[in-house]
Amino acid sequence: MAFDSWPKLLRDFKMGIMQEHYDQANDMNFSKLPMPRRDLLPKLSYISKNSIQATFGCPYKCDFCAVISTQKKYLRRPIEDVIKELSEMNSRFVTFIDPSPMEDKKYIKQLMREMIPLKKIWGGLATVKIGDDEELLDLAAQSGCKGLLIGFETIDQEALNEVNKGFSDVEKYKEVCKKLHDRGISINGTFIFGMDSHKKDIFKKTVDFVQENAIELPRYAIYTPFPGTGAFTKLNNENRILTKNWSLYDVQHVVFKPKQMTTDELFEGSVWAWEQTYIIKNIKNRITKAGTNIPLSLVTNLGYRYYGNRLRNFPNHTIIELEKQWNSKLL
Ligand code: SF4
Repeated sequence: MAFDSWPKLLRDFKMGIMQEHYDQANDMNFSKLPMPRRDLLPKLSYISKNSIQATFGCPYKCDFCAVISTQKKYLRRPIEDVIKELSEMNSRFVTFIDPSPMEDKKYIKQLMREMIPLKKIWGGLATVKIGDDEELLDLAAQSGCKGLLIGFETIDQEALNEVNKGFSDVEKYKEVCKKLHDRGISINGTFIFGMDSHKKDIFKKTVDFVQENAIELPRYAIYTPFPGTGAFTKLNNENRILTKNWSLYDVQHVVFKPKQMTTDELFEGSVWAWEQTYIIKNIKNRITKAGTNIPLSLVTNLGYRYYGNRLRNFPNHTIIELEKQWNSKLL
């Protein structure tokens, strides 16, 4: 986030005194924030102009996560400010972009209670721990939640433990999917392939899991050691990083040496999972079984199908090989 540093950069630019580097302080006073002027944004340039953030950072420390390396403290805006901003939006549809908004239960429950009279329809993010709290689930639904991105990451508990996300209990995944579906909340489930415990059977097991639990919109990423994360430190220390060309750090290419498969097997397995998940029969089975907002699920699934079916156009070995050739020409 750059609430203080971006305005300072703009002021410096105007005065011709730009600095080389701008850092946002990790602790800031949200009561100073002006309300965003969404009316200044061009009408057709955004899928939605109505995104909002109530919390910043995350209290957890998953080793692959870039959020905590850029925002060290877990911060909350005053609830009255969030409600004021929501009230001023001229749309019912709102997206909360908070990476981890449900961790301060008292705060988020109060925010949801105060959102109920606004009659908004919203989507956002949550960890699987939301399933442990019936009141929180009920308030989410009552305040207008229709979809949540849930970072399941993997169905392998050992892998979760090793990446410092052992607080997610794989045994409860099935139950949390059911609880969300029962309340009409769709799931955008995110999964990572390539953790050290993962063997070649992880791809099929994951696709079976998303089908059985009718996860409306699954998304697969390859484990990526972003700079500043615990994953980067670990893999760098183990001399397992294959390239530091950050443009390849797009979570769809393998930029490190996996432990229990080759780089090609990891890339191919991930592409296979995308393709299998988004064959028409599997899309139909998942979204009809879940029964939540079928028209929207169909549109978003067709979008992901288009994306998944093009991943083979950018094969891992070709890209890493091309990069080596460029580098050798530069030397
Ligand atoms: S819970 Fe989510 S936001 Fe928090 S550290 Fe883990 S991956 Fe990042």
